[in-house]
Amino acid sequence: MSTAVLPGATIGILGSGQLGRMLAQAARRMGYRVHTLSPGRDTPTGQLADREIVADYDDLDAIAAFARTVDVVTFEFENVAFAAADCAARHAPVRPDGGVLHITQNRLREKRALAAAGLPTAPFEAVAEGAELPGAIERIGTPAILKTAGFGYDGKGQTRIEADTDPATAWAAIGGGPAVLEGVVDFAAELSVVAARGLDGTMVDYGLIENRHASHILDLSIADMPLQPAQAQAARDIAHTVLESLEVVGVLCIELFLTRDGALIVNELAPRPHNSGHLTIEGCASSQFDQQLRAVCGLPLGDTARVAPVAMANLLGERWAAGEPDWQAALADPRVNLHLYGKAEPQPGRKMGHITALGDDRDDAARRALAARAAL
Ligand code: AMP
Repeated sequence: MSTAVLPGATIGILGSGQLGRMLAQAARRMGYRVHTLSPGRDTPTGQLADREIVADYDDLDAIAAFARTVDVVTFEFENVAFAAADCAARHAPVRPDGGVLHITQNRLREKRALAAAGLPTAPFEAVAEGAELPGAIERIGTPAILKTAGFGYDGKGQTRIEADTDPATAWAAIGGGPAVLEGVVDFAAELSVVAARGLDGTMVDYGLIENRHASHILDLSIADMPLQPAQAQAARDIAHTVLESLEVVGVLCIELFLTRDGALIVNELAPRPHNSGHLTIEGCASSQFDQQLRAVCGLPLGDTARVAPVAMANLLGERWAAGEPDWQAALADPRVNLHLYGKAEPQPGRKMGHITALGDDRDDAARRALAARAAL
């Protein structure tokens, strides 16, 4: 018997941000219906969904009712409580399963899982309470970064610790524990591998995406980072090892540091399509959202081949500081595409949209994406 969820069926998305919106776009194109559940109204995903259910993620009655009306549940927001995924799983398949969420929504569990799979991470130590911090700093050394173990992303809940930092101040800065203390990696570059694993265990990936951050938030991604073949293979092997060891069904992104001496270190995992993979929409035969849809529906995965050199620049809320950006100026370059997420309130640091540019080569693509954004 086929376990595939076929076109015409309904995809349930827990979470309602831009990742769900772009997944909904892929799903709609293939003839699926989409339901989304989150506490928000008129959300980026809800605007494109057949049904937008407004409920808290800990409202298990609402989660159960939601799961009963869909054919498969996935999530676009990894901080959905494990209990919600577990509850949904009693009524519909949840992919990837709640166990993947449980590991990746806690930095300590994630780092331990990576270490258990033999993968390289920055040196780290668990810090359960403030009193443990001075000892951890002594063992890890400075500079170090203190991060809350749960519910952190884009540099939120993090503080850097130097030799003269008062541990109590650092502890207060992240709002208390439990936390993880990590050694600072002296990296030459940051990169990600966006990969997918199907229900039958097949795996594909989009190669190496170079990422540049500003204020801990992704700013620019450029596909096809030119690394030594052995390094590139090592990065892709890391991604495949993670997908297999966590038995992921769906898309997962591995964020990596490339150290100055050429080593690769895993920073963190995102068990879903990722901001750095948005460039696959125009840049690849099948996008990361097509891939997520195909994987969670138990369909064969698509082709990750690059159709052209491509880069992506994020549009954060600060671009709206002087009023509505000049979209026409950004679109003057025909190789630029604009994505806006339908968010009403532009706040600083809020991801409002992105610009993707195709180019003659990767430098040209990056230049076009940045020029289009500067023209706003
Ligand atoms: P995260 O929220 O853990 O992805 O961190 C956001 C950004 O902070 C990363 O993309 C890096 O630029 C920086 N960062 C985080 N952890 C480290 C580390 N151990 N060493 C150096 N930079 C880091």
